[in-house]
Amino acid sequence: MVNIVIFGAPGSGKGTQSDLIIQKYGLHHISTGDILRGEIANKSELGIIAEGFISKGQLVPDELIIRMLAEILDKAPTEKGFIFDGFPRTLEQGEALDKLLKEKGTCILAALNLEVEESELIERILKRGVLSGRKDDNLETAHARLKVYYSQTEPLKDFYKKQGKKINIKGTGNIEDIFERICQSIDRIIK
Ligand code: AMP
Repeated sequence: MVNIVIFGAPGSGKGTQSDLIIQKYGLHHISTGDILRGEIANKSELGIIAEGFISKGQLVPDELIIRMLAEILDKAPTEKGFIFDGFPRTLEQGEALDKLLKEKGTCILAALNLEVEESELIERILKRGVLSGRKDDNLETAHARLKVYYSQTEPLKDFYKKQGKKINIKGTGNIEDIFERICQSIDRIIK
């Protein structure tokens, strides 16, 4: 199985690049942000709890999100592998993911780290907010999400670096060029 984490700050292009990766490599896309937005739309118990955190730019508590991911992994097709988009976001989630995959006899092959400067991240988030109407894509929440990213998610860079799995990808320029850089890295690891 080819299991890949796509990693980066809000607005770094994780979702856009994940869509291209799943088309080319046939991986199963797991986006915790998309799943949570679905839960909110369905007004489920988890959705109602999650909305309070998402609207403030905070992370949904580890316990809830890890349980949600474990259930999804249990039901997901396992032929090819997964692209994890927006998960893990904390060290605890990173450790939980390794454990869950180990139980299935597999592991993460690479963590692609999309690098984009902060000014461009904010610009992209605001643009997406206008186009998609995502409620958490406004200036105030964008700053809160970036703060959370630097304090809670960035430590995962070291986590994957120590495992020899972190691959830095320049996340600026046009979408096709970024995708090309990603493909070169994926092709190298799956050879
Ligand atoms: P995203 O679409 O990945 O930017 O996620 C949108 C929001 O959903 C985040 O700002 C968090 O509030 C929440 N969220 C998504 N994934 C996670 C996660 N792995 N852990 C905690 N909260 C998450």
